[in-house]
Amino acid sequence: MITVLESINLSSDYLKNKGIESPRINAELLLAHVLNCKRLNLYLSFERPLTEAELKNYRELLKRRSKFEPLQYIIGKVEFFGIDFIVNPSVLIPRQETEILIETIIKQYDKYDKLNILDIGTGSGNIAITLAKYLQNSFVTALDISEDALKTANENAFLNNVNGRIEFIRLDFLTEDLTRNDFDIIVSNPPYISIKEFETLRPELKEFEPKVALTGYNSGIHFYDIISAKSIYLVKNGGRLFFEVGKGQSLKVKDIMEKNNFQNITITKDYLNIERVISGENK
Ligand code: GLN
Repeated sequence: MITVLESINLSSDYLKNKGIESPRINAELLLAHVLNCKRLNLYLSFERPLTEAELKNYRELLKRRSKFEPLQYIIGKVEFFGIDFIVNPSVLIPRQETEILIETIIKQYDKYDKLNILDIGTGSGNIAITLAKYLQNSFVTALDISEDALKTANENAFLNNVNGRIEFIRLDFLTEDLTRNDFDIIVSNPPYISIKEFETLRPELKEFEPKVALTGYNSGIHFYDIISAKSIYLVKNGGRLFFEVGKGQSLKVKDIMEKNNFQNITITKDYLNIERVISGENK
């Protein structure tokens, strides 16, 4: 017989030996998933013995995690900006940094403003759905090149009751054109990792997350170029383009945006003091 506490201790050691970062939290979150409870509730039942079935299930999940499969894919969900999202290997796992992008946008508008929003590369739909939730009268058009990602994004829109105010469109923004050009807000968190840097990423990212969501072109700057050049024709006068950028990319992206006639450029830092969000206005 093995208790909750004993199994957490053993599993943390196991994951630690396999080279998993934050092994204890991983062990706890996986067990909470198996027991269908919140992580903190484990602390109230340290002495509870695990059944054979629970143990078997837990072992399987630990094994997957030990091979670097991301925790969020194993559990199948993630919280982003206080909202639950389904995730699977067809979509990038929403990141904390991206919450800064959301915060920067919603601060600038009134929650009842009627806004037309375009999200380029929607993935799980985290940006599109969160904006639709917070900007209650907005309508969001969300694009992605991947049909599977759009399926997941669509599920997430239903789950969060904003499916009536989002249109998902499969489109390769680099090569295909959009017919509407009346957007108040265009937003994108494009694949910004250079091919060289991609090779150095942790296995969780490199082997499990969709490569197309992380990288694609040599420098990592290519998407900013194309999106800026096209967006100036898609955004209304007075409308804004918002990007998340990678570490060290903000000045290059600022340059690109200015070359494409965006004005009033502003840059926002993240919690680690890294310049993370950049926006400009079509004036
Ligand atoms: N829009 C999604 C996110 O910000 C997906 C981005 C991407 O796949 N590059 O997480």
